[in-house]
Amino acid sequence: MKLSEAIKDAQKRLEEAGVPEADFDARALASHVLEIPLTQLAMHHARLLTGDELAAYETLVCCRSKREPLQYLVGSTEFYGREFLCDPRALIPRVDTEPVIDVALEIIEEHDIRRIADIGTGTGIIALTLAAEVEEAEVLATDVSSEALALAAENAEQLGLTDRVQFAAGRWLDPLHEAGWAETVEMVVSNPPYIREEEWDTLMPEIAEHEPREALLDTEPDGLGGYRAIVAQCTGLPALRAVFFEVGEGQATETAELMREVLGAREIIIRKDLGKIDRVVAAVLGVGDA
Ligand code: SAM
Ligand code: GLN
Repeated sequence: MKLSEAIKDAQKRLEEAGVPEADFDARALASHVLEIPLTQLAMHHARLLTGDELAAYETLVCCRSKREPLQYLVGSTEFYGREFLCDPRALIPRVDTEPVIDVALEIIEEHDIRRIADIGTGTGIIALTLAAEVEEAEVLATDVSSEALALAAENAEQLGLTDRVQFAAGRWLDPLHEAGWAETVEMVVSNPPYIREEEWDTLMPEIAEHEPREALLDTEPDGLGGYRAIVAQCTGLPALRAVFFEVGEGQATETAELMREVLGAREIIIRKDLGKIDRVVAAVLGVGDA
């Protein structure tokens, strides 16, 4: 079978399974199997596929038609211009998280911040991107999931960042105390789980059936439980200058209020994502505020 026919056939099957971007995914899976960059695939349309290539493609298309996420099937995805390994041990990096990095870089520069903790690091995208972008940064990446931390450590290895990023398992900020970071941490950043139980059934099958539930679901009815727990643990950290979060749609105002109340934050920054939804809430603290 020719490559063009195999792609057409796959696209049809993915469409029938309700996959949203069937055309793109059929080509992305072919590009992955044949190890040909997506942009060059069209030049190979007349190529005849070997039996092994067809079988490998068939397996991936079958998984995708069961709504396994494309990023898990190809094993990596891009975030802030870098490639991250990605598999079911952790949440798939989202483009929505990129404004978190933009805001962090601004605050880091303005306040000359060096010691950063990323709480609930997942694949490690926030911790590792900040370490890669800021040469002097020292980062502690934590997660309650040791599986996610193992994947984040593989990403650190792959990006050559193991010397400035440490990993520690535990709930929220507990690992900071255990790792001796509580006295020196200057910035706490987190994209905690913020999906509400009642939202669960509205999620796409790729998310609800394949991504780790504990990476997405907050146990409190308003989805703000993670923010409350982290903010409470941020009080009394002597060197802390900034705390900030990715938030879900409609959660920015209440999260900002929480930070004002509990941390006494005077300056709050709220930033939108590409879809114009308030996505980042950052509190800049005066020395001794918290
Ligand atoms: N930071 C990654 C990102 O932006 O793609 C992952 C974010 S994911 C929404 C939330 C992460 O928090 C998951 O990796 C999950 O395992 C972790 N997590 C959930 N509850 C936690 C807790 N109590 N303490 C620490 N991490 C937690
Ligand atoms: N943005 C993710 C989603 O809607 C949720 C991430 C989170 O819970 N922090 O799929």
